[in-house]
Amino acid sequence: NPNPFLSLPYEPAFESLGDDYYDVVAAAEFPQHLLRFRNDDLLPQLGLDRAQVTDDHFIEAFGQFQGRYPLIALRYHGYQFGEYNPHLGDGRGFLQGQVRGQDGELYDFGTKGSGMTPWSRGGDGRLTLKGGVREVLASEALHALGVRTSRCLSLVETGEQLWRGDEPSPTRSAVMVRFSRSHIRFGTFERYHYLGRKDLIERLLNHVIAMYYPHLKGEADAPLRFYGELVQRVATLAAQWMSVGFCHAVLNTDNMSITGESFDYGPYGFIPTYNPRFTAAYFDHYGRYAYGNQAPICKLNLEWLQRPLALALPDLDWDGQLQAFDETFRRAYVQRMLNRLGFETVDDSLGLELVRSTLELLQMTQVGYGDFFSRLRHQFQPRWRDNIDLIPLDLFSNADPDTDSQAPSAEVWQTWRGCYHLLLQACDAAALKGVQNCLDRHNGHTYLTRPHIEAVWEAIDQANDWDPFAALVHKL
Ligand code: AMP
Ligand code: MG
Ligand code: MG
Repeated sequence: NPNPFLSLPYEPAFESLGDDYYDVVAAAEFPQHLLRFRNDDLLPQLGLDRAQVTDDHFIEAFGQFQGRYPLIALRYHGYQFGEYNPHLGDGRGFLQGQVRGQDGELYDFGTKGSGMTPWSRGGDGRLTLKGGVREVLASEALHALGVRTSRCLSLVETGEQLWRGDEPSPTRSAVMVRFSRSHIRFGTFERYHYLGRKDLIERLLNHVIAMYYPHLKGEADAPLRFYGELVQRVATLAAQWMSVGFCHAVLNTDNMSITGESFDYGPYGFIPTYNPRFTAAYFDHYGRYAYGNQAPICKLNLEWLQRPLALALPDLDWDGQLQAFDETFRRAYVQRMLNRLGFETVDDSLGLELVRSTLELLQMTQVGYGDFFSRLRHQFQPRWRDNIDLIPLDLFSNADPDTDSQAPSAEVWQTWRGCYHLLLQACDAAALKGVQNCLDRHNGHTYLTRPHIEAVWEAIDQANDWDPFAALVHKL
C-alpha cells in the first residue's frame, strides 16, 4: 500500500518566504536504515491510523527522504553563551516538510543528523545514536509532564560509525525526525538584524504572526501583541521546566523557538535533587544555563530579540511588553508547583508559603526531586485532612548519603505540614478526591535521571538490546 507519509497534505509555508531564509540541500546516503523508534502517539495528530503505517513507511519517508519537495536548511544566527555567532544555520538537519495537524496548527518535520549543509562549519552533519535516544527520552518525558515541547516522530539508525571528542572508540549514528511547531528561532530574526535587512525582518514577522499567532492577523498592533504573547509563553515555559526539574542546558538564542515551545535537547539534565546551581552541560563553566538561571536567561534572550524587532518597527514600546515576564513566570511557577503538590487552585498566600517551604525542605534534605513528588503521590491519604499527625515526615527522608543533606528542620517541617493541612481543610469531599487526581496527573510514573538514561544506553550499546529503552518510553 502507498506510503501515507508521502501523501500528507504538505504545506510549504516556510519555503514561500523565499530563498533569503534557507538553502536547498540533499540528504546524506546511509549504509543502513534501522528503525529504532516510531512515535505512534503522533499519528492521530497527522490524521493517520497506526495500523496503516508500517516500519518501512517510516524508513522511506524519514530514513531515505523519498518523494518530497526541496529539503531546506534554515539560515539563522544566535548568541551562544553570550557571544554572537553569525556562522550558524541548520548544520546537520533540514526542514523535510510542513503539515497542518488535526488541531489546525502547522507542524514541522525537522531532521537532525541527516547530513552536511552549507552551515555545517567543521561538523560532519551527523547525530550520534545516543544523542537521538536522549532527545526521544527528554521530549517524551517533558510532554508527559505537560510541558509544551517538540516530539520525536522517528529515529533511524544509519549503520555509520562516528568518532566523537576524545572517545577511544567510534559510536553509532542516527537520523531523528522532530515534530515541532516551528524551527524559526529568535536567532532567525537576529540574522536579518545583523545583515541590516529591515525588509526581511518584516516579512518574517508577518509570516510568524500569520502561521503561529493567527488570532492576531490583521490587528493594527499585531507585532507588539505577538511579542507580548511570546513573553507570556516563554515565561510559562520556563516555569514548566523549573517545576518538573528540567535543565535545558543550552539556552542560546538559536535554541529558542519563536512559538515559545521547548526544543533541541542536547546535554540537558533533570535535577537529581533541588539545587538552583545544577548545570547539565560540562562546557557551561560559569553556570550561565544552570537550572535556577533559566528564567532570567530566557528573559535576557527575549530582551535581545527586541533589537531585530525594533529595527523593523522602531517606535513601539517592546520593553513595556517584557515587563510582564517576572510576574507571569512567578504565577505560573507557583501554580505548577501547587499542582504537583496536589492542589488545582488555592488561596494565594497559603499556597505561596507551601511552595516556599517545599523548596526549603527539598534543598535542605537533598531528597530526590522526583522521589519526593512520587512519594507524595503514593502516600497521600484523604485522612490527612482530619489528623495532621498522619502527614509523614518521611516524605522528606531517604536522602542520598553522598549528598550534602540535612534532616528537615523542625521549624520548616511544621510550617510545611501546617500549610498542607490547612489547604486540605479547605477542601470539601469532592475537592479532597481531586487532590489525588491532581497528584496523579501532574507527577509522572518515573523521573528521568541520568542513571536511567545511562542504563538504557548501555543495553543498546553493549547488547543492542532496545527493550529497556522501549520500557522506559512506555513508562514515561
Ligand atoms: P546546538 O548547540 O545543538 O543547538 O547546535 C548549534 C549549531 O551547531 C547548530 O547550527 C547545529 O546545526 C550545528 N551542529 C551541531 N552539531 C553539528 C554536527 N555534528 N555537524 C554539523 N553541524 C552541527
Ligand atoms: Mg540548536
Ligand atoms: Mg542541538
